[in-house]
Amino acid sequence: MSDVRVRFAPSPTGPLHIGGIRTALYNYLFAKKNNGVFILRVEDTDQSRYVDNAEEYITNSLNWCGIPFDEGPGKNERFGPYRQSERKNIYKDYVNILIEKEKAYYAFDTSEELNAHRKQHEANGKTFIYNWHNREKGRLKNSLVLSKEETNKRIKEGDSYVIRFKTPQNETLLLNDEIRGNISIDSNTLDDKVLFKSDGMPTYHLANIVDDHLMKISHVIRGEEWLPSMPLHVLLYRAFGWQVPKFAHLPLILKPEGKGKLSKRDGDKLGFPVFPLEYTNESSGEISSGYRESGYFSDAFINMLSLLGWNPGTEQEIFSLEELISAFDLSRVSKSGAKFSLDKTKWFNQQYLQKRTGAELAALYLEILKNKKINPLPSLNYIEDVVSLVKDRAIFVKDFWNLSSYFFEHPKEYNEKAVKKQWKADTKDLMLELTTVLGSINDFSSESIEKETKEWISLKEIGFGKIMQPLRLAVVGEMKGPHLFDIIHMIGKEETLFRINNIINKLS
Ligand code: GLU
Repeated sequence: MSDVRVRFAPSPTGPLHIGGIRTALYNYLFAKKNNGVFILRVEDTDQSRYVDNAEEYITNSLNWCGIPFDEGPGKNERFGPYRQSERKNIYKDYVNILIEKEKAYYAFDTSEELNAHRKQHEANGKTFIYNWHNREKGRLKNSLVLSKEETNKRIKEGDSYVIRFKTPQNETLLLNDEIRGNISIDSNTLDDKVLFKSDGMPTYHLANIVDDHLMKISHVIRGEEWLPSMPLHVLLYRAFGWQVPKFAHLPLILKPEGKGKLSKRDGDKLGFPVFPLEYTNESSGEISSGYRESGYFSDAFINMLSLLGWNPGTEQEIFSLEELISAFDLSRVSKSGAKFSLDKTKWFNQQYLQKRTGAELAALYLEILKNKKINPLPSLNYIEDVVSLVKDRAIFVKDFWNLSSYFFEHPKEYNEKAVKKQWKADTKDLMLELTTVLGSINDFSSESIEKETKEWISLKEIGFGKIMQPLRLAVVGEMKGPHLFDIIHMIGKEETLFRINNIINKLS
């Protein structure tokens, strides 16, 4: 085991968007590639946004994707607990260290007072920032300007306060991101972020870096939306005197047309899921379909996601998880956003479907046939033969039914246009005669049915179409499907004769 330890740190405020899964995936690939550990940490300090079933949803999603965590809630809690709500008392001790080191301070300003400052600044065409600029000028009420006694008295009396980070002044911060390279920031542009609230809860920033430190996180790999927090996080590590982990901020997943972040609305509009698994919003009752429920294979989904922001530097597109692990490299993650494409996503599923064995596909199709109440259920061998005839045209297993229902039940209706075109005045008599021909064939293999039928048609000196087209209509219900004699062989003599008689009865 190496020292590489990475974490996926979602807040359980709802279902995981595919962007979240992509972050988890890159963390997973990086951990496995480097013989390290992939950790799930649940960042649930903001109780007002907490959603009950969200953590379970996250775990189920990672498991479905085949990228389970090595350490996390309830599993190998080496530096646990891994739920921030269960670590509450830890953070207070750490914020106190910063107070003692004079790197953080108490601020008693009420929200009304802060709003008034904001308004006043706006009136003068300025923006109010709580930082070096004004924190010691006496207009703000904090422990930098109040006496020690006054500060202690206020705390004792239960005055509401927050603890703010005392951002160092006049420093040029040189940061490094594994994907974006060097970034330089003037510390004077940063505000003094709140680290701790008087309700005893830390803010995201404090909890996040304390936990990354205590859990020995070596690389912070997360979405681009957290890049603006990086200067503060680095400053916090320095304030504590801790080693700073490496950072890598992943590019956004963009809308199909390329502008803006991919949203659930895009999915609803264009008809694709943005969640891995189906999700029921408990307050609105709205149910959103997931990739799993829409019929995607999890390995196809993961393969598609892996290439949304990373490329292997070769033309290869199809990767097993093992291949992804060995090919993955943070240096090949792009800085710019990656456009989501529904066609490409379907293409991946189609590729994976073609690679599945007949037996696997037959087992999956069997479940659909059970739901369709097909009785009696055919053997798996029969289903496998059907699958091999139609799978070229399928993207999802659920497509099999439309492509091959006639292998399992006789047509309930006949395509009207085809009937008009193919069912002529003499068709009935020809079909009746055909039943006698087919009825007398003993070897009911595809080749022999074809040979006998064609011989009979030749003797009658009529066009092949005059027989073949109505026959296809009788067997399939429309003018589609694979080689007709294969179908007839598969459904058998009795069923074929039944279907021919059926169409005669219905159309005459
Ligand atoms: N809880 C943050 C989120 O919801 C974690 C950000 C990070 O990885 O630092 O994405």
